[in-house]
Amino acid sequence: MLRLAAALLFTAAAAAQAAAPVETSAGELPVILTAPHGGVESLPGCDERTPVGTRFVTGPDAHTDRLARLIAAELRQITGRAPYLVIARFHRKYIDANRRPEEAYGDPGCAAAYAAYHAAVRGHIDDIRGKYPHAMLFDVHGQIAYRNAILRGTRYGRTAQALLARAGAAAINGPDSVFGRFAALGYNIVPGNNNAPTDPVEAKNYIGGHTVEIYGSHRSDGIDAMQLEYGRDLREGAALEATARDSARAIAAFYERFLK
Ligand SMILES: [Zn+2]
Repeated sequence: MLRLAAALLFTAAAAAQAAAPVETSAGELPVILTAPHGGVESLPGCDERTPVGTRFVTGPDAHTDRLARLIAAELRQITGRAPYLVIARFHRKYIDANRRPEEAYGDPGCAAAYAAYHAAVRGHIDDIRGKYPHAMLFDVHGQIAYRNAILRGTRYGRTAQALLARAGAAAINGPDSVFGRFAALGYNIVPGNNNAPTDPVEAKNYIGGHTVEIYGSHRSDGIDAMQLEYGRDLREGAALEATARDSARAIAAFYERFLK
């Protein structure tokens, strides 16, 4: 009887998680991976968005939900500990979780799912800030403007300013930085590591959006934050798994050097 009750409870929990608009889990590393644009699911009770703002995009960043999940799994393999994870399951045509509420959705029926996404991120940041001296949020995206490159977005160093203040430019562009490792692994990166992190050379439209802006370390309640924009070629077919593996290697190296 007890076993049956436990089984029913487990089934109910699994069903609730499957139906939830946001996939999220706490971690054991001071690293948060967020993926606001990879979802493809519909959202009952939430009407599609209508055009608003200067850059209105409704297409998903293909496979970035899976990419974030794979990076998390690889990080666990390498370090023995999992990062925190927040993935939007809903399609971007309903909610753009990387926009301010007034641009993220139009129908009030979408508000709860948007709030759930950001409550998860905020909860993880507060948890991490209580446990670790240093931490980093990576906001995982996809772009097609630079098909075989990975783009860095920190609003010219602003959203990682605490990291820059304590560890210097090398934490962003040095050999043990995430983009230093990407370059060493053979990836094309934008901007190049020969630029200073505060140089205004991050790619236009990819300097970092709402997520890094509201959770970055330039805010008194934030942590260091960086947007990662993966080109389409790095997310297609078999390339996705290699991209995830290499991203986890890069983040693990950064963690060893700058977050421990
Ligand atoms: Zn995106």
